[in-house]
Amino acid sequence: MEGKQELEKIGNHLPKSGNRRLGIDFVNGRPRCQRCGTWIPNDCQLEVGGYFCPGCLFLGRITQEHELVCSYEPMAISPQKVTCTWSGQLTAKQQIVADELTTCLTHKQNALLWAVTGSGKTEMLFPFITQALSQGLQVCFATPRIDVCNEIFPRLKQAFGKTEILLRHSQGEEWHSFQLLVATTHQLLHFYQAFDVLIIDESDAFPYEGDPVLSFGSQQALKQTGCLVHVTATPSKELLHRCQQENWKVLTLFQRYHKRPLVVPELYFLEDWPLLPQRKRKLKKLARLCLELLKDNQVLLFCPEIPYLKDLERALKVSLPQLKIASVFAEDKKREEKIKRMRQGKWDILLTSTVLERGVTFASVSVIVLGAEHQVFKKSTLIQVAGRVDRVGSYQKARVIFCFQEMTYAMRQAIQEIKVLNQQGGKTNDL
Ligand SMILES: [Zn+2]
Repeated sequence: MEGKQELEKIGNHLPKSGNRRLGIDFVNGRPRCQRCGTWIPNDCQLEVGGYFCPGCLFLGRITQEHELVCSYEPMAISPQKVTCTWSGQLTAKQQIVADELTTCLTHKQNALLWAVTGSGKTEMLFPFITQALSQGLQVCFATPRIDVCNEIFPRLKQAFGKTEILLRHSQGEEWHSFQLLVATTHQLLHFYQAFDVLIIDESDAFPYEGDPVLSFGSQQALKQTGCLVHVTATPSKELLHRCQQENWKVLTLFQRYHKRPLVVPELYFLEDWPLLPQRKRKLKKLARLCLELLKDNQVLLFCPEIPYLKDLERALKVSLPQLKIASVFAEDKKREEKIKRMRQGKWDILLTSTVLERGVTFASVSVIVLGAEHQVFKKSTLIQVAGRVDRVGSYQKARVIFCFQEMTYAMRQAIQEIKVLNQQGGKTNDL
C-alpha cells in the first residue's frame, strides 16, 4: 500500500523506491519526532544516549537510532469506473451538497461539510468517494471514534462492494492492501503522504480535538496535492476559523433527511442527582421518567462518570426489575455486542458514557442526560447527544431530556443552537 511507513534501525540497506526520513530530526535546533510531531523534552533520553519520543509510544518506541521508511510502489489499482450500489435517493438539498463536494475534488479544494445530526452525511459523501475511487485515488475515511468506524464500515462495504476496503481501529490488526481505508485517526500515524483524499468525520470529538499528535498525523498522512474534507454537525470555532484562513469550501445542511426538525431538549430539574443510586425516593423520580419515555421508545441514559453509571445501573435494576437494563462505556469489552442488542430492541434502558454521543444510530430511542451540567457535557456533546433521537423512520414521539440541578452556559447554548439550526433548516423547505 502506498505511503505506509515502517520503523527501521538506521543503517539497513536502502531500497531504491523507498522514502527515508530520520525518526527524530532537529527542527530549529530542537529535537522533533517526525512520526507524531512531538517536540521531545530534555528528559526523554535513553541511558545509552539519544532521544526517544514519548508521544507515540503506542506505535513502538521511536528513537534517534530509527528512521521512517515508506514505500511508494505504483498502485495495483488503475483508474476504472467504480459504481456505488447504494440504492437510496438523495434529497434535492443533499444532492446540491454532494455535487459541491465532487467539485471540491476536481479543484483539489479542502472542504468542511457542516450538516446537522441525521442529515445523511455518509450518503452525501458517496458521489465524492465514487469519483475518487474511479480516478484510482487512495482514500481514507478517518474518525476519532471506534464506534463510528464500526458503523460506517459495513455501509461503505455495501455501497462499494468491488473496492478493496480495510477497517483498522486497533493496534496489532493485520494490514492488507486497500483502496479505501476506514480507520481511527490514531491509525493515520502509520502513513506519510499516503492519501489523495482524507475524510475526517467528527474531528471535534474526543480524542482528536485538542490532540496535536493526531492532527499532525492527519496532516502527514495526506498528500500535498490531496483533498481534505472535515465532516461534523458541531464544528469547533477553531475549525471554522481555519476554513476561513485557508479558503476551504464550507458546505452546510441544516435539515434532517426526513425533514423533521431536530428535537429540542427539555429541561428537567432533578435535585441531588449525584445521590440517585443511594436514595430510593430520589431514584423513583428518574424511574418514573424512564417509564414515561418507554411508552414510545427505548431509553438511552447518558451519565457523566463511569463509577456513577455502574452504581446507577445496579440501583435501576432493583428499582425496575421488570425492565431489561444494560450499560456501555469505552473500556467495556462487550460494547459492540450490547450496542447491537440495543438496536435489536433487546434492552429497554441502555446507560452509557459519552462514548455513544455521536455517529451511532438507533431506530427508536429517547435520550436522558443525567447531570447535564457536568463538565463532560460540553455544548457540542449535548447537541450530538440530542441528535441521537428521531433519526430514521416515521415520527416516534422521541424526546430529549436534560436532567440537571444547575443550569450551565453549555446547556443554554446547546438548546439555543438547536433552535437556530431548526430555523435555518426550515427556511428552504421547498427543496
Ligand atoms: Zn512520536
